[in-house]
Amino acid sequence: MQPMQRRDFIRETFARCLAASAAFSPVGQRFLSAQEVSARRGMPPLKITRIRPIQTRAGGAWTIVKVETSEPGLYGIGSASDIFRHGSIPAAVEVLAQGLVGRDPDEIEDSWQASYMSSLWRNNAITNVALSGVDMALWDIKGKRANMPVYQLLGGRCRAAVPCYDHAREETTFEGVEEGVRRSIEAGFTHIRVQLGGYGGGGFIDAGQGERPKGGPPGRVFDEDLYVQTIPRLFEYLRNKLGAKPKLLHDAQEHFSPVKAIQLAKRLEPSDLFFLEDVLNLEQLSWYRMMRQSTVTPQAAHEKLTSPAEYIPLISEKLVDFIRFRVAKVGGITPARKIAAMAELYGVRTAFQEGGDNDPVNFAAAMHLDTAIVNFGIQEENHFAPEELEAFPGAPLLERGYLYPSARPGLGVDIDEAKAAKLLSSGSSRRNMPRYYPPDRKIDGTFVRP
Ligand code: MG
Repeated sequence: MQPMQRRDFIRETFARCLAASAAFSPVGQRFLSAQEVSARRGMPPLKITRIRPIQTRAGGAWTIVKVETSEPGLYGIGSASDIFRHGSIPAAVEVLAQGLVGRDPDEIEDSWQASYMSSLWRNNAITNVALSGVDMALWDIKGKRANMPVYQLLGGRCRAAVPCYDHAREETTFEGVEEGVRRSIEAGFTHIRVQLGGYGGGGFIDAGQGERPKGGPPGRVFDEDLYVQTIPRLFEYLRNKLGAKPKLLHDAQEHFSPVKAIQLAKRLEPSDLFFLEDVLNLEQLSWYRMMRQSTVTPQAAHEKLTSPAEYIPLISEKLVDFIRFRVAKVGGITPARKIAAMAELYGVRTAFQEGGDNDPVNFAAAMHLDTAIVNFGIQEENHFAPEELEAFPGAPLLERGYLYPSARPGLGVDIDEAKAAKLLSSGSSRRNMPRYYPPDRKIDGTFVRP
């Protein structure tokens, strides 16, 4: 045999061997090894057959994504809620469905990468919310197939239960806030977020008060110096009344020029906060470097980032103590576990965002991650009206400040679509209707972030 013929013979023989040991996946357009086929024995090949957004809660504030498969009755659900752009989400889900229907739902990572890149301009808040819905649903399906809760797929339990922080009732007097914190402690919470009458509270000049320019805003206006004087006094008051035991948190919700943010963090040092959240504007994150050199008040940031790569500097430069995001904003469980794993390596803990506008499916996804990550810090609480719980059977429930993940397969929460449809006109959640985010302004009319 000539050398050329020998090379052709070897090449052909190799190709024949490969064909004999591999099967072609009809759904994923990829070759499966013989071992992979064997590992899947007993689990028939699956296809995604349909992906659809379901809007629920008053005004359609919640968007739930349902991913259906070729196996009758097997589907997954995910969270894609956004009360500030709720009308854009269903369209974004439908675009992602164009690339995913017909695929194998087992291929979560590849589906995520393809969907993330599908808009080319990928730092895209709307796409990432829609993608979160799809991604959570795929993890839900995989858990149901494996007959395991999602936290088992993520590595298994790291803790008996997930502690959540409560929101003290947002009273406008120091005494009222103290009452609210006491109520949270009585309900079993060890971590309590304290605000003085909502975001910016403590820094507002009431309507008609102060020296106002002609044509300026007539309503309440924000003054950062007033805030920086008032809020440290509130925490000093609470420590005097409640002692050192309750772990107290505060959300500054951006509102400040950078040096004022640092001043606030320094003045809060004697009150020993569990964390100070989002004290710097999203656009001024580099000031965290100076913050780090100036104060030991623990920092949590930044729930308004939506693209996984944006978290790299905050974590790798150890600029914050708690990395914070809503699982349904960064693209779902797939990127969330990567951000959390990176944070673990740098000694940064997690504090996943919830909030009154958030749905039970996101809360469940966060709870599964919280259960399985070793560098868990704290989880923001959420709670739902009785009719909302009926529409989402299996929704996570707080028990004296803790979430106890169930052994139900998948995310463990389902949607009753008939009951969910009734929530659209329900009055119980009108406070969280879709809306335009209302800005605060300074006395001369200047816009205050966020
Ligand atoms: Mg916040």
